[in-house]
Amino acid sequence: MDIRQVFIIKKLFFVKNSYMPELEKYNKKRDFNKTSEPKGRKIKSQKQLKYVIQHHFSRKEHYDLRLEWGGVFLSWAVPKGPSFNPVDKRLAIQVEDHPLDYGKFEGTIPKGEYGGGTVILWDVGTWLPLSDVKKGLEQGVLKFSILGERLKGSWALIKIKTEKDSHWVLVKEKDEYAQTKAGIYHFKTSIKTGRTKLEIEQNKDMIKNPFKKVEVQLVKLVEAEPKGNDWIYELKYDGYRIVAFVESDVKLMTRNHKDCTVYFKNVARSLLEISKEKSMVFDGEIIMVNEKGEIDFQLLQNHIKTPSLVSQFMLFLIC
Ligand code: MN
Repeated sequence: MDIRQVFIIKKLFFVKNSYMPELEKYNKKRDFNKTSEPKGRKIKSQKQLKYVIQHHFSRKEHYDLRLEWGGVFLSWAVPKGPSFNPVDKRLAIQVEDHPLDYGKFEGTIPKGEYGGGTVILWDVGTWLPLSDVKKGLEQGVLKFSILGERLKGSWALIKIKTEKDSHWVLVKEKDEYAQTKAGIYHFKTSIKTGRTKLEIEQNKDMIKNPFKKVEVQLVKLVEAEPKGNDWIYELKYDGYRIVAFVESDVKLMTRNHKDCTVYFKNVARSLLEISKEKSMVFDGEIIMVNEKGEIDFQLLQNHIKTPSLVSQFMLFLIC
């Protein structure tokens, strides 16, 4: 037997004996043309094992506990959520392994799709196995400690003997983090974005502008003013003609379709504020006013050369 053969045999042995996570189930259950959840792919686990809980408002509200192992998230759906009270035994149904990318997912899965409903990133952090994970999964006892923002201390997952192979209970072990009540229900916002369920849903359902490009209305030079009452007049401002596209962010475009948002960040911010998460398009003119109260094109040009922090005299006038 040469060295190469030994290597191959060892390698086969390793594969056969390691925990074989499968994201196949995960991928099969989902239509990635319809859901914004990440596609299942395996990533090599780092030294620090990730932990995440997602509050999932599907048909039956629950909390999804996920523990990184073998390049995927082992996952349990906990209908009542974890409890800090060691007396509580919370049913935890093991579900299909999830990809590690799922640890960043927050949003709304469309109605009618698998798991349809809103997902809030409820807690993130790392976890540490306190016993052999492979054996624990086989024998149905997993002891671990969680270092999250909201959950901390030592916990245990214990498999219960039912006809269903997937039923476990999640219990808090007695330690300094134990409480006399569940101690989780006051946490209603995303640990990542601070958003409530409603705010996540509104962002998701934001209707986008139907077009990405628009030609500005240009002036036409004429010899005499038009007659009749169908005309109004406005001043011709000396500034930059800008079309502002407002969605979840703002893009300020020149009439030649150049993105110039970087020069007018304060205008972009103000537009985002007044839009209150609605999509809209404005055709307008950015001007600057000098200390004498005059519209000053030179000031604007200087600002573009060296964007100053203070530009309280900048205005965006909607045409
Ligand atoms: Mn779920």
